[in-house]
Amino acid sequence: MRFSKLFTPTTKEAPKDALLLSHIFLIRAGFISQVGSGLYNFLPLGKIVLDKIKNIVKDEMDKAGAQEISMGVVSPSELWRQSGRYDAYGKELLRFKDRKDNEFVLGPTHEEVVVDIVRNRINSYKQLPLHLYQINTKFRDEARPRFGLLRGREFVMKDGYSFHSSIEDLKREFDLMEETYTKIFTRLGLKFRAVAADSGAIGGSGSKEFMVLAKNGEDDILTCDECLYAANVEAARRAKKTTQKEPPEAVFAKFHTPIGEDSSIEQLSEFFKIDTFYTIKAVIKKAIYKDKSEIVVFFVRGCDALQEIKAQNATKALELLDASKEDIKKAGLIAGFCGPIGLENVKFFIDNELKEEKNLICGANEQDYHYVGVSMFNFKSERYADLATVNEGDLCPCCNDKLSLAKGIEVGHIFQLGQKYSSPMNAAFLDQNGKSQPFFMGCYGIGVSRLVAVMIEANHDDKGCIWNKQTTPYMLDIIISNIKNEAQVKFATRLYEDLKMEKKEVILDDRNERFGFKMNDFELIGFPYALIVGKEFDDGKVELVERATLKKELIDIKELDVKLKEVF
Ligand code: ATP
Ligand code: MG
Repeated sequence: MRFSKLFTPTTKEAPKDALLLSHIFLIRAGFISQVGSGLYNFLPLGKIVLDKIKNIVKDEMDKAGAQEISMGVVSPSELWRQSGRYDAYGKELLRFKDRKDNEFVLGPTHEEVVVDIVRNRINSYKQLPLHLYQINTKFRDEARPRFGLLRGREFVMKDGYSFHSSIEDLKREFDLMEETYTKIFTRLGLKFRAVAADSGAIGGSGSKEFMVLAKNGEDDILTCDECLYAANVEAARRAKKTTQKEPPEAVFAKFHTPIGEDSSIEQLSEFFKIDTFYTIKAVIKKAIYKDKSEIVVFFVRGCDALQEIKAQNATKALELLDASKEDIKKAGLIAGFCGPIGLENVKFFIDNELKEEKNLICGANEQDYHYVGVSMFNFKSERYADLATVNEGDLCPCCNDKLSLAKGIEVGHIFQLGQKYSSPMNAAFLDQNGKSQPFFMGCYGIGVSRLVAVMIEANHDDKGCIWNKQTTPYMLDIIISNIKNEAQVKFATRLYEDLKMEKKEVILDDRNERFGFKMNDFELIGFPYALIVGKEFDDGKVELVERATLKKELIDIKELDVKLKEVF
């Protein structure tokens, strides 16, 4: 490619809403352009990178035995009604009607469609397993599209779906996909970890996320320094918390605690001169369901925070909102004095770690009163759920070592769905005994367009992008320093033509621009190497610049062949 012909509109201005350097540099270097909130176009250089990532993903998926298909971006709402997700998915699902009033959705994920493809076409266990995947456009009407390609509304995903005749075979495929994803992200040159995850709106049981460690990541992940345990904070577990502090031993009784309505758990423990560990905190939320909403109270230790995703999973609500003062009053609750004992007519959950604990203090559901000497023996097991946020410094559930907190960007997510979709959608096969059974399914996603941004979030400096050899649009940028110097032009053009004949990824900066301007573009765009045909050319020398380090090396033209072999 000749730079003089390339459409890559580089600019000095950063987009005004951009916070992350990956977003700023991809726009400034002309890889992508924005057309609307969360909507991006891939320009020529961006398209090359996107395709390279796609190819690596495709290569490894094919090697793992999956078959590529392409499903429509639009799918009929009817399929989403069959699975029960039409209502459950929430506002990210964009619903619309055609001219005949038929209802459709823009696919945010394709479980329903792929089940429809396979049902009644695969009938016997003998035809299983089957794994179909695509690399295609998704649409999710994200509440907060931001960070450029990292969280768009329209984006490219690799989504694969596997069908099995047993859970054991599904687990085998799940492990194979963990291996396959590990190969893909390793080939991309990323630092990542597979972590235990919450299953979100996709559902099912076991799921793992692949997280690229990055300081600007949106996800919090807890990792154990000692063993391999790693989990998203939304799904993280810990060894049960303990304390050395003295428990406030007391006989069960109601106690006058005039500490005020808006008092904090700290004020309560200050009042009793005890550790917050021994108090029970009430977090009051409004749970939104398909056609109702209700107040739900979550009880966790005073020293813990409620983890919202865990809380939402316990209620199976579409969304949890903070309850307003009026909501709380209407539900008959007394803010600041709410406790699980004697609490009636309100749904509530208690954190697992409070089960069978003693010597606790909690609200008495009466203004200015708390109970002391509380024992947690009398609640039904359905009341208990994992609700507490795991923090840095808490202990690993596997080996008891300290957990550390890191930031990550989710680039892949693999799920064991089981029969979550096949069962309601009547997608079944005949097993070895001639019995009809819903398929056991797995699903596996990779954020392909998100990865374009992740490559740069993981590799940049203050001048611009730094592409690695696997994903760069071109490997070598041959820069003609002075376009009026005929000898320079002739040499550079010849070298460019020769390398192109050898199918090397090379670009020739033949623009009639100042040298400094061309170098700035090289640094902003971030090709791995530049070869400068400039001042020293008359002495038979050219300069090789490595983008990652910006190190320059003068090379004798006679030794250029050897050097270029190293580059490519
Ligand atoms: P997130 O928690 O980041 O919203 P998710 O759990 O909703 O992700 P999945 O449904 O598992 O994501 O989708 C598979 C992959 O698609 C994700 O691992 C991620 O890399 C990518 N992805 C999801 N949402 C977006 C988005 N809005 N923009 C770009 N990529 C996305
Ligand atoms: Mg999401």
